[in-house]
Amino acid sequence: MAKLLKARVVITSPNNPPLSGGAVLVEGERIEALGAFEELKQRFPEAEIVDFGESILFPGFVNLHTHASMTIFRGLADDLPLMTWLENYIFPVEQHLRREWVYWGAKLAIAEMLRSGITTFVDMYLFEPEVIRAVEETGVRAALGEGLFDFPSPGYGPLEKGLALTRELLESYATHPRLKIIVCPHATYTCSPETLKKAAALAEEFNTLLHIHLSETRDEVALIKARYGETPPFHLEKLGLLNERLLVAHAVQLTDEEIELFARRGVRVAHCPESNLKLGSGVAPVVALLEAGVLVGLGTDGPASNNDLDLFGEMRTAAFLQKGLSFDPTRLPAEKVFEMATTFGARALGFEELGFIAPGARADLAVVSLAAPHLTPFYDPFSLLVYSARGGDVTDVMVGGEFVLRGGKILTFDEEEARRQVIEIAREVRALTKKG
Ligand SMILES: [Zn+2]
Repeated sequence: MAKLLKARVVITSPNNPPLSGGAVLVEGERIEALGAFEELKQRFPEAEIVDFGESILFPGFVNLHTHASMTIFRGLADDLPLMTWLENYIFPVEQHLRREWVYWGAKLAIAEMLRSGITTFVDMYLFEPEVIRAVEETGVRAALGEGLFDFPSPGYGPLEKGLALTRELLESYATHPRLKIIVCPHATYTCSPETLKKAAALAEEFNTLLHIHLSETRDEVALIKARYGETPPFHLEKLGLLNERLLVAHAVQLTDEEIELFARRGVRVAHCPESNLKLGSGVAPVVALLEAGVLVGLGTDGPASNNDLDLFGEMRTAAFLQKGLSFDPTRLPAEKVFEMATTFGARALGFEELGFIAPGARADLAVVSLAAPHLTPFYDPFSLLVYSARGGDVTDVMVGGEFVLRGGKILTFDEEEARRQVIEIAREVRALTKKG
């Protein structure tokens, strides 16, 4: 049955004025109509009315880069440089990674993301079929792929098997309504040029995205320069990998020439400001990238380097950083950073029917209740969502026309069970790190 969703204000897209007293008619997985509540009620008398009361209804967020299952490592090792963190803590523990850990870690992450208004996430990790299982069961939307490395992976063994697994997933999920398989070589320092070329060929064959960590730290840039004589972007350019199919995470250490090159090649960027700050990597030149015409969305990165999965926090941090570093408070205003978290993220994934509210768009929506001290009073919805709201303020979430969070309760799975399982897994992880 069609649903008529009513809120105090509906944000349709950052480029349109918010709709006061507005409503959205959802039929099946799509938005059928948008307008004043009374008018839609007359046009669609059969529709079930869902009144969110004093609230803002907005397009669900797109988390453009994460490793969801790393919830199991949240707070395990903090305050370390990226390479020390990876090589001394994360990679050794990941050698013992088990399928069920990835599954439960992903489920917990999905609970956290839904509660933060995230309806789509991009995931690169190990044992990715387990993340797929979690996505299918929970009703969220995702673009994901198995992380590929030159060294043997606990997920698939030797690289050739990782490429074969990726191909198998690309074939199996080609028509899934909520899943898009992407090809995920981990980074230029963990993948040889041959690996990168094979991954890119696979992405091209299946017309999907290639997703990689790139130019995250100064050390990485120095390492790639020493190894290949080029910076990471020019290394990929030489290999013929810079194009509209490429989604890079981070892009912190970029020169003006590289920004220009990204714009020319149509490369997409997932900006992960809190992870970059926590790992001391620096601040991505977001305004320069946007001004050059590069599509930039927002990501949380993995919950072990953030340490949460809350895009409200990322929006605020992204905006504040650009203002603070430039001594210019007009930079990256609330509407623009909201656009990065919604429309730009969706477009970066090639999801043209997501990230905004309009007839014909897919019904991926979130609701923030205004009934909280820190959300009072209410003047401007963008200001409120970007500068005052946080994940816990989301009361309702719909993905593809189905409620997954309703009145603060997750409907599609047992969130408490995911918490209990991850608490158990953490006991085993702790034992492993003590042994090391
Ligand atoms: Zn990452």
